[in-house]
Amino acid sequence: MNNIIENIKTENTGHIIGYVHSLQSMGAVDGPGIRFCVFLQGCPLRCMYCHNPDTWQIKSETNHSSSGVISVKTEYTQASPMHKTDDYTGDVPSNPAMSYTPEELVLKILRYKPYFANGGGVTVSGGEPLVQAEFVTELFTLLHEHGIHTCLDTSGNFPEGLRCDNGDGSLCHIEDVTKRTVPIVTSAVKYDRLLSVTDLVICDIKFTTETEYRKYTGGSLNKVLAFLDMVTRHSVPLWIRHVVVPGYTDSAEEVSAMVRIAKSYPTLQKIELLPFHKLCIPKYEALGIPFRCADIPECDGETIERLSKLL
Ligand code: SF4
Repeated sequence: MNNIIENIKTENTGHIIGYVHSLQSMGAVDGPGIRFCVFLQGCPLRCMYCHNPDTWQIKSETNHSSSGVISVKTEYTQASPMHKTDDYTGDVPSNPAMSYTPEELVLKILRYKPYFANGGGVTVSGGEPLVQAEFVTELFTLLHEHGIHTCLDTSGNFPEGLRCDNGDGSLCHIEDVTKRTVPIVTSAVKYDRLLSVTDLVICDIKFTTETEYRKYTGGSLNKVLAFLDMVTRHSVPLWIRHVVVPGYTDSAEEVSAMVRIAKSYPTLQKIELLPFHKLCIPKYEALGIPFRCADIPECDGETIERLSKLL
C-alpha cells in the first residue's frame, strides 16, 4: 500500500500542510524536559484501548487553510482489510483538524523556546505521525535550524507495506518475532529523511506477537521492528513504551517479551510502562463508536510497580 497520502501541498504555494489535532505548549511526559507537543491527525491502527479515536481520521477530501486549498486522500479514515481487527474497524465522524504549514507551526513554537532550555524541545505525536512523515520532516528540519530538540512519538506503523530483504517485492510473513532471522527492509527514503532530523524516538510496543498485534491493533509488529531497524541505522536514541492492559498485556511473560525486544535495539535509553485507563470514554460516546475496553478494569499503581521490576 503506497502513497496513502499524496501531495499534501497547497495548490497555490507548494507548501506542505500538516493536519493537527491539538497542540500542548508545556508538556512534561512526552520526552525530556518541557515539551511543545504537536498531536497530528491520521492513524492506520485501531488499537483496542486507543485513547484518541478523534485522531484516526486525517482529513476530508478538501480543506481550506490559511495558505490555500489543499487536497488529500482519505484511506486512513478506517483500517484496511488486511488490518481488520476482530471488532470495530469502521469510520469515525470527520474531525475538523487544524492545518498548518511547517513555517506557521515553527513561528508558534518559537514563542516557547525559552522553556526548552533544560533538555526540552518539540514532540510530534498523534494519531500516527508517520502518516504525515513529509510534514514532520520539514517541521523538524526547521526546528533544527533554530537549535530545538526533536522527538517523534510513534507506533512505528508506517503506511507502506513491508518487503523481505531479498528484493523480490514479496510481503514479509515472519510470524514470530523472537525467531526473526532476516532483517526486514522497506522502501524507506522518506523515513531516512525524517530520522536524519530526529533526536529521539519514543515507540510504543503494544503487543509482542504478530498475531496479537494484528488482532488488537489492526497493525503489524513486523512493521514496528522494521521501523526500529531504521532507528538503529540512524543511531537515534530510543525510548520504548508499553501500555499495561489488565488481562491482555499485564503478565510477566508479556512484559518480559517486550523488554527482550526493546533491549535488542542498541540505542535504547529507557523503557516506560503506562497504565491503561478509561478517561477516553466520553470521546467514544461523543463520536458514537463503541469502546472495546469498556469492561476492562483500569490498571493500578501496584501492577505497574510489580511489572517495573522486570525492566
Ligand atoms: S496508534 Fe495511537 S492513535 Fe492510533 S489507534 Fe493506536 S493508540 Fe490510537
